[in-house]
Amino acid sequence: MLRIQASRMLAAPVMRIDVLTIFPEFFGQVFDFGIIRRAKLAGIVEINIHDIRQFAAGKHKMTDDRPFGGGDGMVMKPEPLFAAVEHVLGTSNRDEYPAGTRVVMLSPQGKPLKQRSAKSIADEAKRLILICGRYEGVDERVNDALITDEISIGDYVLSGGEPAAVVVTDAIVRLLPDALGSETSAENDSFSDGLLDCPHYTRPAEFRGMKVPEVLLNGNHAEIEKWRFEKALDKTRRNRPDLSERGHSCPHERSEKS
Ligand code: SAM
Repeated sequence: MLRIQASRMLAAPVMRIDVLTIFPEFFGQVFDFGIIRRAKLAGIVEINIHDIRQFAAGKHKMTDDRPFGGGDGMVMKPEPLFAAVEHVLGTSNRDEYPAGTRVVMLSPQGKPLKQRSAKSIADEAKRLILICGRYEGVDERVNDALITDEISIGDYVLSGGEPAAVVVTDAIVRLLPDALGSETSAENDSFSDGLLDCPHYTRPAEFRGMKVPEVLLNGNHAEIEKWRFEKALDKTRRNRPDLSERGHSCPHERSEKS
């Protein structure tokens, strides 16, 4: 693992992420823990935070203005965002973006982020630009001209795109090659096979009268796999009936048939 990391340090990162925000301080340490920190240190991902205000013109460096047509709140102006994308990518012409570039508007109006979409971005993208909106949102011309994807992290409205940028970054970076290290894998995580994950236990085998299920202690891998599959199916039926409607079969039984 260390050797992989050392050689990777000399190569370009698997993915470069640039976050555009009016609150760069928000990201102070948020990417400095656990898997993302390790992926950064191993040169798997490079993450840069850009202050949109730096790209605003005039003495007051305004990044927002009143909405045409009237109404509440402010709207983020297009000029600083075009300038920021030009700074990061060398162009604001979508046809000239470097291969594998995704410019993402974080928005409650976007397509919902799913494990599947995170995986496809992790597999395909080399550059990710995440635009964090604030106020009533961003001038629509940014969507029209700059954006390749509009992503929502759920059916609720946040005050700004910054928490969404953290969620999207985390979900994608942990799926980059070698990011999780050898001791863990995303394959068994919730959603990867359409089910939620199974319950997990660790030592002690008994805690305050609560015992770890016997099957996990007996070393019979086929039984353990069957138990885990059934528990995952139970939980999915209870908490996410929308997912459990699809047909699922135990991975152990599947491998026996093939
Ligand atoms: N007026 C907008 C609407 O109703 O669709 C909401 C704007 S919200 C207060 C401000 C910013 O927060 C958005 O521009 C977006 O960047 C971010 N945001 C809010 N909810 C989000 C979500 N569910 N997913 C991703 N970004 C979100």
